[in-house]
Amino acid sequence: MSLTERDLKVIWHPYTQMKTAAPPIPIVRGEGTCLYDEDGKKYIDAVSSWWVNIHGHAHPYIAHKVAAQLQQLEHVIFAGFTHQGAVELAERLLAILPNNQQKAFYSDNGSTAIEVAIKMCLQYWLNKGDQRTKIIAFNNAYHGDTFGAMAVSGRSAFTKAFDSLLFEVEFIDTPNENNIQNLKSQISDLKSQTACFIFEPLVQGSGGMLMYEAKYLNELMAHCRQENVLMIDDEVFTGFGRTGKRFACDHVTVQPDIMCFSKGLTGGTMALGLTTCTQHIYDAFLSDDKLKTLFHGHSFTANPIACASALASMDLFMEPATMANIQRIEAKHEQFAAKIQHHPKIKAVRQTGTILAMEWQTGDDTSYFSSLRDKLYQYFLAEGIILRPLGNIIYILPPYCITNDELAYVYSKIEQALTEI
Ligand SMILES: *Cc1c(COP(=O)(O)O)cnc(C)c1O
Repeated sequence: MSLTERDLKVIWHPYTQMKTAAPPIPIVRGEGTCLYDEDGKKYIDAVSSWWVNIHGHAHPYIAHKVAAQLQQLEHVIFAGFTHQGAVELAERLLAILPNNQQKAFYSDNGSTAIEVAIKMCLQYWLNKGDQRTKIIAFNNAYHGDTFGAMAVSGRSAFTKAFDSLLFEVEFIDTPNENNIQNLKSQISDLKSQTACFIFEPLVQGSGGMLMYEAKYLNELMAHCRQENVLMIDDEVFTGFGRTGKRFACDHVTVQPDIMCFSKGLTGGTMALGLTTCTQHIYDAFLSDDKLKTLFHGHSFTANPIACASALASMDLFMEPATMANIQRIEAKHEQFAAKIQHHPKIKAVRQTGTILAMEWQTGDDTSYFSSLRDKLYQYFLAEGIILRPLGNIIYILPPYCITNDELAYVYSKIEQALTEI
């Protein structure tokens, strides 16, 4: 039996209708921007393997650091114990975040980083004797698939089966020139019951690579600060260079109260989640009353192997060559966007940093489940490119090591698809 046949006997894949989905492609090796399947076919990973990979696959430096860590310490319980990697990673990350971020809480993926952030906010108010339970989030938001993270995400086909069980959230539009005053007054109206406002800064990834301007986010954040509404900045997707700066919040001047990280944190090598917060939030949990403790943890909290890969990824991330690559991709994207934006089959082109999204013109069905989506997905796979459209929206967000030739190839195949599909 082939690996694919064996897979189909025993595996249930994420986000996959197992009845109709094409069989999974067995990948045996990765190198740089590319993945190779069992038959030796090469794929350019233009979506960074679900947005996690930033330095390329099987990076020798990260591999070396992880291998060394495995010889030293693979895991240790993180309550009552600590280890070098967790401390060093927190120190180094906090040093490059907005300077109000003072404490780091580990978990093991993006959704859990969000759960921790929400719990911090809800219990912060409770610990201060002011029970506030309302949460404000953006329409079309995506913050993860666990129940709390799902509750603060927009209601959609993905949440439909669970909608009646999700706690109530106040959804507002992302800000723009026309609605900003209105959004501010909505927040003012809700402030006395509101525990926090959670947002994806600048880009709503899963929502369809929807983008909004830093200027209006900054204005909204300033208003939250003024109204004493805690802010959770979900940088799970936008962190580590995606938006052209180290973090999306580097595009604004107001500092969030809490930040969440995962995807790019380990360079895409290991599962790790991290929630950072201000001293002020942390202090609200200090008490002789045990009930004021943040009772949250995971078996693999701050796993040393994951911390070692995050530290190795951080070394690479801080090299000037990495930011130069980010800027190079940004410039190439801009050129390509200008070239195709008036194509009759393109409805809209959006770009923030290394993220380029193209909305395909469709006659009828524009949903995530459109047949165009599957056609595009298969078309690019056949051409050796992994692009995973969100409905009729194609996006490129490559590892930063992608070469100009590889980028040119991806662009050329998109142009070819515009002619042929
Ligand atoms: C992917 C994502 C999450 C969830 O992260 P997982 O590791 O997939 O659980 C949360 N927030 C944003 C903005 C994301 O893109």
